Amino acid sequence: MLLHSTRNPEHRITLSDAIAQGIAPDGGLYVPDSLPKFSPDDFAGLTELADIAVKLITPFAEGDALAPVLSEVCHDAFNFPAPLVTLNGTPGPASVLELFHGPTSAFKDFGARFLAASMERIRARQHSGRKLTILVATSGDTGGAVAAAFHRRPWVEVAVLYPTGLVSQRQAQQLACWGDNVRTFSVHGNFDACQRMVKEAFADAGLAKSHDLSSANSINIGRLLPQMVYYARSALLLWRATGKPANFIIPSGNLGNAMACIWARAMGLPIGDLILATNANRTIPDFLNDGNWQPRQSVATLASAMDVGNPSNMERLRALYSFDEIRQQVSAVSVSDEAIKSRIRHDAQAIRQIWCPHTATAAEVYWNLPEDQQAKHWVLVSTAHPAKFNDIVEPLVGHDLPVPPALAQLLTLPRQETEIEPQLSALRAQLQGER
Ligand SMILES: *Cc1c(COP(=O)(O)O)cnc(C)c1O
Repeated sequence: MLLHSTRNPEHRITLSDAIAQGIAPDGGLYVPDSLPKFSPDDFAGLTELADIAVKLITPFAEGDALAPVLSEVCHDAFNFPAPLVTLNGTPGPASVLELFHGPTSAFKDFGARFLAASMERIRARQHSGRKLTILVATSGDTGGAVAAAFHRRPWVEVAVLYPTGLVSQRQAQQLACWGDNVRTFSVHGNFDACQRMVKEAFADAGLAKSHDLSSANSINIGRLLPQMVYYARSALLLWRATGKPANFIIPSGNLGNAMACIWARAMGLPIGDLILATNANRTIPDFLNDGNWQPRQSVATLASAMDVGNPSNMERLRALYSFDEIRQQVSAVSVSDEAIKSRIRHDAQAIRQIWCPHTATAAEVYWNLPEDQQAKHWVLVSTAHPAKFNDIVEPLVGHDLPVPPALAQLLTLPRQETEIEPQLSALRAQLQGER
């Protein structure tokens, strides 16, 4: 199968090339020429994420250099679970899909690990002597996941840029605890400044000469395909148990996680309704309301990993469906910081569930569903472990949170980072200087 740019259907390339390039030269995003079709029976006997991943992603790699190593890539990437846990104390059947059991306690570990595992195989075939340098600007979760996934892989260097003081204490620790082939830059600016510096680095002639630059940001198709897998698995488990489709509520920002679910449903997985839960950044709910696509500046909220004013994956959704179809496919609800706080407080007491601020948006949407909707089986997608955002959650629930082992281990490591000014020249000097 080939993929093409959302801005030019004539520009077609293989999966390996799309993963290596990240974004198309015309600024578009890569999407598959067509989506393969499955029925639930095609997955009979498969229960492990890695095995379902191989089945689901194989058609995308057909004819590509990744095809013979795809099974290896999937087993490398899917080495931690995504449990579907029953939620008690709800009016109808409901579950939580826990996506926070990876090395940095957020769902972005799935995409980052698959990207690293596939880039490693793609590199090996190119016999290039030069190391790759991955640049990543992060508002908090992506940088840690990418650093963890690429750490100590000998063919690559990673440079992580994050805005000083604008991530949680534990996120900052997860960004700066790596060392070796990972360099972490604490940038005296906001996330937009970090992103601008990365964009400028790609356009810089001097850096192009001295470095083989690549990106690991969320528009890379290599991060989206693996995210289909946990939707497929959880929907199949429910289908086998009840004969009914799974309905998902997904905390959304850049729409990467939800886009993967929409593709999985279009490919024939037993997925029913889909609701996007956003924070106070209302670009998507407003669009679904009136059809006007109006990207805007993001506003800061408690669910900071979803602070996106211009969700880039909407371009993929609009390439797949007309506006009327999109309105049939998904709905979206915006949740305020006040509602996030009271939801965390309330559910900790009432049903003994502790949510991270992002997952709390999904819980809030669930509890506000009309009564007739609550009879369906809903799956609340839990995108991060609450202990990662303990500075927000602990004061609301009134006690300390247990720390998952992977996070606890990272918290013991020394921080290694360099503070830099928000200018390309500062980044260039660091990358080109002696370490
Ligand atoms: C990145 C992130 C989101 C938003 O996911 P998108 O793919 O950008 O929609 C939600 N929750 C957490 C914890 C995240 O890190």
